[in-house]
Amino acid sequence: MIVDLRSDTVTRPTPEMYDAMTRAELGDDVLGDDPTVIQLEDLAAAKMRKEAALFVPSGTMGNQVAVRTWIKPGEAVILEQDSHIQFYESGGISAHAGAMTWALPSKNGVMDPADVRGRVTAGNIHTPATQLLCLENTHNRAGGTTIPLETMAEFRKIADENGMKVHLDGARIFNAATYLSVPAAEMAKYADSVMFCLSKGLSCPIGSLIAGPAEFIERARWNRKRLGGGLRQAGVLAACGVFALNNLVDRLADDHRRAREFAEHLNTIPGISVDMSGQQTNIVGATTDGAAVEWQSSLEEGGVRCFATGPNRLRFVFHREIDDERLARAKEAVSAIRKELSSAH
Ligand SMILES: *Cc1c(COP(=O)(O)O)cnc(C)c1O
Repeated sequence: MIVDLRSDTVTRPTPEMYDAMTRAELGDDVLGDDPTVIQLEDLAAAKMRKEAALFVPSGTMGNQVAVRTWIKPGEAVILEQDSHIQFYESGGISAHAGAMTWALPSKNGVMDPADVRGRVTAGNIHTPATQLLCLENTHNRAGGTTIPLETMAEFRKIADENGMKVHLDGARIFNAATYLSVPAAEMAKYADSVMFCLSKGLSCPIGSLIAGPAEFIERARWNRKRLGGGLRQAGVLAACGVFALNNLVDRLADDHRRAREFAEHLNTIPGISVDMSGQQTNIVGATTDGAAVEWQSSLEEGGVRCFATGPNRLRFVFHREIDDERLARAKEAVSAIRKELSSAH
């Protein structure tokens, strides 16, 4: 049995999704007449309480398109230094949007509002115009941590005072909503645009959405086409998204419970630890005494897959395909590795 904790993106479509794919009414989405894509976009806009939404092939493209749509080349974006947009998108916003970034540190993925306020530069002969604030909720590299709603409100206020837009990278916004026990729209309301992924905990094979004002989405559609992200019978994918949004959001709490149980188990094992103050959702970020890559390869031999995200950092992500049996298997595997490592020393 392989227990794949590398990412929640490894989740495969459910039987109901295959069924929905075969039944989906299709059109040509570049021509604007795929009814299933339209249904998904309307549903996504309603969930985020925004005027409109746009289906995109990936979360990365969603973020790229959003930033590109909000700013002009040479303008500045404030974001967290380990955010997905800054760290994991191959320098895309510099290439696609011509953005310059003010990348700020954070605690558990949450920037200090005072730092954000202090970094806003006015567009003049010396400094770039800071036009956009990007937030990430939950924060991937920080270990699935959420931004408290009061802090979201503070960020909104800073943006309004400075004539800036706010883009929320909510790849896992439903995990955040589950943890904070609020509808996702309660977080999205502090942002002008929001991106969320269908292909992570929601188990879809492909796809993300961006939601925002109708006028923004219209320009985003043009930017998506420009990047080659216009898809034809995309309704086969959208059908999975409709199913996921209607049926797979409530079960995310199970992933959070299993992640916490696993994190607590790691804390009973010498040489590996998890800071429980950041243990909120489906990602477990562990610190190892020895090299994380050694833990990773030993675990792999034991049938448990994870990622080393730093010299002493391991990441385990819980998702729909990890049931209680696989959780138990993963716990056993870490205990066994530990015995192996200590007998070798
Ligand atoms: C995964 C992720 C993305 C990008 O999604 P892809 O579909 O893999 O391109 C964006 N932001 C965050 C925070 C993510 O975790």
